[in-house]
Amino acid sequence: MTEVSPQSEVTCKGGCHCGSVCYRARLPDPIRAFRCNCSICSQTGFIHVFVQQAHFELLEGHDELVEYQFHTRTARHLFCGKCGVKSFYVPRSHPEAFSLNLNCIELPAEIEVITGEFDGRNWSENIRRLRSERDD
Ligand SMILES: [Zn+2]
Repeated sequence: MTEVSPQSEVTCKGGCHCGSVCYRARLPDPIRAFRCNCSICSQTGFIHVFVQQAHFELLEGHDELVEYQFHTRTARHLFCGKCGVKSFYVPRSHPEAFSLNLNCIELPAEIEVITGEFDGRNWSENIRRLRSERDD
């Protein structure tokens, strides 16, 4: 039997460009990140890092966030009303969680990031694989 080593974690801060939106999150080390080619992620350059709600805390910016929804209106796209940066949001793939933008997280220098691809243009066909990857 192989032993499962306890997963190490790291606490990171993140937020938008102007600093109005600021959060803290507990992430696994290494961090799993996903590029997505769907209509909105490709335009915004969003790189997903999924985090459970219990491991995420919005420190500042509750009143600054602007919400945008489209298509199934499951995802809640949250932008800073001042600088326009989407530093995190509630994704359609994991509506019970948050997706942080890897580009908006202050990463410790020594942390490893494993980046995968998600074919969000063919969402329905690929969502099962993405969900099971996260639960690995
Ligand atoms: Zn901002």
